[in-house]
Amino acid sequence: MKAVRIHEFGGPEVLRFEDVPDPKPRKDEVLVRVKACAMNHLDLWVRKGLPGVRLPHILGSDVAGEVVETGEYVNHLKTGQRVLLGPMHFCNHCEKCVAGLQNQCREFTVLGNAVDGGNCELIAAPAGNVVPIPDNLGFDEAASVPLVFTTAWHMLVGRAQIRPGQTVLVLGASSGVGIAAIQIAKLFQACVITTAGDEYKLEKAHALGADHGINHYKQKISDEVKKITNKGGADIVLEHVGAATWEESIKSLKPNGTLVTCGATAGPNVGIDLRFLYSRQLSLLGSYMGTMGEMHEVLGHVFAGRLKSVVDRTFPLKDTRAAHEYMEKSQMFGKIVLQP
Ligand SMILES: [Zn+2]
Repeated sequence: MKAVRIHEFGGPEVLRFEDVPDPKPRKDEVLVRVKACAMNHLDLWVRKGLPGVRLPHILGSDVAGEVVETGEYVNHLKTGQRVLLGPMHFCNHCEKCVAGLQNQCREFTVLGNAVDGGNCELIAAPAGNVVPIPDNLGFDEAASVPLVFTTAWHMLVGRAQIRPGQTVLVLGASSGVGIAAIQIAKLFQACVITTAGDEYKLEKAHALGADHGINHYKQKISDEVKKITNKGGADIVLEHVGAATWEESIKSLKPNGTLVTCGATAGPNVGIDLRFLYSRQLSLLGSYMGTMGEMHEVLGHVFAGRLKSVVDRTFPLKDTRAAHEYMEKSQMFGKIVLQP
């Protein structure tokens, strides 16, 4: 089959479109023909070099496609079925896994990170990770769901325990996690404030349900949040930007507020004034992907049409390098999808 692999870490030029052997599914696995593989910022981090990545390596976390072969032990899926893959890799026998807390498993990783991913034509996946999708959900849209919607669900519901009527500040409206978080927060009847770098992206965020938009290049985020909330501040701040926004995010919280973060796109090192943390009784929560149960919960809302992924642009798999260059310019609103 054809696959995009990296043989060394580096810039977009290290991505090679080449022939590799077809994967052979084990008896408990399913072979899927990849129709769409959505990109995430993780692809850029892995390409630049992360510990635990063995070379050569196939990138790509979010896969949708068709079942071409099922292993002997698999009887709930059939050839030709349209599916997406749960992008989690875990041992499935430790204390955490059997309790349904796969993202706390010692072996937990995301597909395409420490294990080969979906930037290829065929992928073998454990049957438990293979989820049938409805006929009215396109492959590009389906591939754009799993990682970011599960991540945003775990952040807001699993970690920050969102309640109806709260005010939620979602950083980065145009990112995959931002798009998912705006909609999930609205599902809980929250008041949603979001940020973006231009008016076009803010308009798109409003169309997804965001109540208020802040242009982070022209406005100071915490000042605007104070204005919008009549000086109250946000109950929950959803962070994934890091160094560039951290201080504003902390200042935007109301007393007893919760900041939950899943990433550090703009740098991992931030400062904190401990006096501010304890006197305002703030909670700072880390969040990493989500559990299989949470993925199924959020997929239920997607399949029912209550939550929608947004596809910005598609590229043929052979043009993965151009797709990486496009992502690095951060001009997109929504997901970039590679099509084998
Ligand atoms: Zn485990």
